Amino acid sequence: MRIDLHTHSNVSDGTQSPAEVIVSAVAAGLDAVALTDHDSTDGWESAAAAAQDNGIAFVPGMEISCRTKEGISVHLLSYLHDPAHPGLLEEITKSKDARLTRAEHMVSLLSEDYPLTWDDVIHHVAPGATVGRPHIADALVAAGVVADRTEAFTSILTSHSRYFVQHYAPHPALAVELVRAAGGVPVFAHPVASSRGRIVGEGVYQEMIDAGLLGVEVDHRDNPEEGRTFLRELAATHGLLVTGSSDYHGAGKPNLIGENTTRPEVLARIEELATGSRVIR
Ligand code: AMP
Ligand code: FE
Ligand code: FE
Ligand code: ZN
Repeated sequence: MRIDLHTHSNVSDGTQSPAEVIVSAVAAGLDAVALTDHDSTDGWESAAAAAQDNGIAFVPGMEISCRTKEGISVHLLSYLHDPAHPGLLEEITKSKDARLTRAEHMVSLLSEDYPLTWDDVIHHVAPGATVGRPHIADALVAAGVVADRTEAFTSILTSHSRYFVQHYAPHPALAVELVRAAGGVPVFAHPVASSRGRIVGEGVYQEMIDAGLLGVEVDHRDNPEEGRTFLRELAATHGLLVTGSSDYHGAGKPNLIGENTTRPEVLARIEELATGSRVIR
């Protein structure tokens, strides 16, 4: 059994439709795959249909953008929650709306120095998708300013850049609480990915655990080895599930679908713990 619990489609910042992500999962020899678009569950239905057509298990998921009081960005994966839970839905809608205003603000700053308009960016966003920096990167690639998303993220679009603007995001402990209230299983995504920016200290882990955190994503290409050792020890101490995943974004990132996987016992435990929705087989 090969299981990848973290992928993105063009419902957020991946480059493939949800059905195409499923086809890529099948081509990579996966038996089960989760779709975890940023702050959206809009891809679940078509991914589930494609998974049934292709004889692969589909795990409905989502990746929630969060921020701590110190301003550190945290991503929280949620599996098998109820997508209609009002409290959770309200938070992700707030984030999604704020992402739009924030992207417009970033584009207005960028347009002072680069040939970039809001229309250029929207051209790269599928209707209704969660807007993010990757879409701005796509427009900068099209304008010939950078070669690819990676170059955009290491230069113009870093969080230290003068063009960077923050957007509303819930505290990770609140997000954990809401995922649990919605019957989902919250898993801290790439917790020690220091290349993406500052990482959280012990206090935030404790707050998230107290709120009901159930797992940590350990095997992820952005987690350095010493950080993985720390996470395995943390998981053993607190009885947290340990997952491994690709964070596939189609052509938007070098991450290959299935490059990291999660043990079948862990997926079975996620299914036992969740009450919000079900794995589609
Ligand atoms: P945002 O949430 O809009 O601030 O943008 C962050 C998103 O950009 C993350 O979800 C990543 O998927 C994506 N990202 C971060 N670094 C890179 C990179 N080097 N290449 C492509 N995408 C990236
Ligand atoms: Fe992303
Ligand atoms: Fe993430
Ligand atoms: Zn992700």
